[in-house]
Amino acid sequence: MSVDIECVVVGAGVVGLAVARALARSGREVVLVEAGEGIGVGISSRNSEVIHAGIYYPSGSLKAQLCVEGKQRLYAFCDERGVDYRRLGKLIVATDDSQCAALQRLLEQGRRNGVQDLQWLDAGQARALEPAVSCVAALWSPSTGIVDSHALMLALQADAEASGASVAFHTPLASARCTGQGFELHMGGAEPMTLSCRELINCAGLSAPEVASRIEGLPLQHVPQARLCKGSYFSFSGRAPFRHLVYPAPESAGLGVHMTLDLGGQARFGPDVEWVDQVDYRVDPNRVHGFYEAIRRYWPALPDDSLQPAYSGIRPKICGPTEPAADFVISGPLEHGVPGLVNLFGIESPGLTSCLALAERVQAILAR
Ligand SMILES: Cc1cc2nc3c(=O)[nH]c(=O)nc-3n(C[C@H](O)[C@H](O)[C@H](O)COP(=O)(O)OP(=O)(O)OC[C@H]3O[C@@H](n4cnc5c(N)ncnc54)[C@H](O)[C@@H]3O)c2cc1C
Repeated sequence: MSVDIECVVVGAGVVGLAVARALARSGREVVLVEAGEGIGVGISSRNSEVIHAGIYYPSGSLKAQLCVEGKQRLYAFCDERGVDYRRLGKLIVATDDSQCAALQRLLEQGRRNGVQDLQWLDAGQARALEPAVSCVAALWSPSTGIVDSHALMLALQADAEASGASVAFHTPLASARCTGQGFELHMGGAEPMTLSCRELINCAGLSAPEVASRIEGLPLQHVPQARLCKGSYFSFSGRAPFRHLVYPAPESAGLGVHMTLDLGGQARFGPDVEWVDQVDYRVDPNRVHGFYEAIRRYWPALPDDSLQPAYSGIRPKICGPTEPAADFVISGPLEHGVPGLVNLFGIESPGLTSCLALAERVQAILAR
């Protein structure tokens, strides 16, 4: 069977859903194809659910721009669509004097990125906010929050469908060929079929490089190597020790083992950093030792035996452990020369926060 469609979006995570919504609202005929059985079966359901302020990322980077812009859009969208969120605010803590310079750089970085509400707190001011925290200084970010990521994805899906988009589950894109007028797509799954489309947007998360490498006609130098960086979480069994999010000074590949709260008030800690070769979401209970050590630097009262393995996510990195952090990559015709094709690579954190802003960028690229 062969079907002609104007625009196919690959992957029904938060980014693919936001892209499908934006393109459907712009008047396009959109089909969102997803390999799994439902929305959000990938990393969009395996993260901290934090709406980031936009502090950490190099000024002018896509991560900085799209996080700051995406945060505003996301809060507005949640208000409009009744998606549950809380603007809890977050403390980033320096646990000894040697971390104060890094915290100061973070403050300046955040301000350069347009996060104007950051405040420097001394230890007393930090403890007034969070009596259990141990630190010598902290940054207070009032615009950081948490969101119900599944409710967000459902609202994006509902908007996309209301604008005429359709979503096909159990429909993996197996391969594609550039035809000059668009793309011929070969779909796998129980009922293999061929589709043709004019525009193809690859939002396949961890699999985005693999999907791109199966597009005949796309030069392989435009496909980065996928690197997998796992982050495990442990839940805390007692009453949450903090009312706000608490983060340590950031690490090289992640933001450090932080405490975040879900919307039910349950505390969890994570994610740690583990470079892996395969996608395996099981949490190794032995990693808990590193968690006790990391958490007790800022919360010395963490009781023994209070952490249980919870879940993990895998960061879709496009740089290795010894390389500088990579930016989001939105690779369109100007970069690779194939009309109608946009690949999204390396959409790690803050991809959830940035989803609506990423979708706007994709739409702008296709409108050129
Ligand atoms: C540990 C961790 C913590 C994070 N914390 C935060 C945070 O607090 N705040 C924040 O803003 N961001 C956070 N992020 C980042 C955020 O989760 C991601 O940027 C975002 O979820 C990426 O969404 P996505 O739609 O690109 O990918 P995914 O959600 O993985 O969606 C990709 C989809 O593509 C599908 N797919 C794959 N191959 C094919 C194919 N061939 N055909 C069809 N479908 C296919 C998959 O099944 C999947 O459903 C975190 C990430 C991690 C890993």
